[in-house]
Amino acid sequence: MYIKPEVQNVMHRLITAKVDEIIPIIDLNASEIRYPILDVIGLNSMDAQILESMTQVGILEKSLYDKLLVCPTHPDTLAVTLRLYCPKCKSFDVFRMNLVEHKLCGFIATKEVFENNKLVCPSCNALIKDQKDVSFPGMWYECKACKGKFDAPTIMLRCRNHSHDFTMSDAKKIDVHSYKLNKEAEKEFYDNYILVTPLRKLLEPFGFKVEAAVSVNGKSGVNHKVTLYAHTSDTKIVIDAKTAEAEVPDQFLIAMFAKVIDISPKLAFFVAMPNVSENTKTLAKNYGIVVIEGKTLQEIMNSIVENLKSKLNLQINDQCKITVE
Ligand SMILES: [Zn+2]
Ligand SMILES: [Zn+2]
Ligand SMILES: [Zn+2]
Repeated sequence: MYIKPEVQNVMHRLITAKVDEIIPIIDLNASEIRYPILDVIGLNSMDAQILESMTQVGILEKSLYDKLLVCPTHPDTLAVTLRLYCPKCKSFDVFRMNLVEHKLCGFIATKEVFENNKLVCPSCNALIKDQKDVSFPGMWYECKACKGKFDAPTIMLRCRNHSHDFTMSDAKKIDVHSYKLNKEAEKEFYDNYILVTPLRKLLEPFGFKVEAAVSVNGKSGVNHKVTLYAHTSDTKIVIDAKTAEAEVPDQFLIAMFAKVIDISPKLAFFVAMPNVSENTKTLAKNYGIVVIEGKTLQEIMNSIVENLKSKLNLQINDQCKITVE
């Protein structure tokens, strides 16, 4: 699953931009449900297929974000509003009436009577200062067309774009999801794939193919699993990366040395986050492996860029300097 570059791009974006949750934007006017993160990585933000397949393999965890009621005939249009109808004559020119009681004197009238009197009680002439001075003993609806009074209007949903009504029970329900990165998947990705997206951006213009967590065939015929393998027809770059709480132990460098001898790349990087011991550095020098240390991805990428420039003579200008955070 991680092999797919678009999955790597989604993961890389989530991790480097520290996005906790992929939240949809529901645009009722445009009738669009969009995931803006997909736009950022050059995919169609309205097509959540990639997020769904990442959920199926356990990289993302989805939860219900919203439930939309939409028109059963035009489910693609999200613009739906409520309409209240008179149950007698079916007019939608209905309005709500509230009874208001002035608590101090017990006078009861409709809300309009109090409002028209500038919030002074028509009975005792006291000013009504706030809601605490009144209570609402009753509420009903009235129809302007037939003057009918009723407790409950008929509620219909209205399809705005096609100007017709449908009932609540006929409405189609659409589940809208948000997605969270699974913590284990995040760790696995960070350890194995975090450098692949920026390196691809950096090296593909120079004709390199960049692969992550790949097996590379050595001269002996043995396959070696490496963190990253960048290659053209005549140049091979092998990168192994390890992250540790403090110093990355030298056993990883020693294991890498065996692979490097067999694969014999032009350039071998041992990426250690945050750093390695002096002893490991000395070993690496003897092995012909370049140690890249860094506390952040940006530091590591900067150091890789410097080494590619000086050791492979790649003309990397500042415009294609890679920003990872
Ligand atoms: Zn409709
Ligand atoms: Zn009516
Ligand atoms: Zn009063």
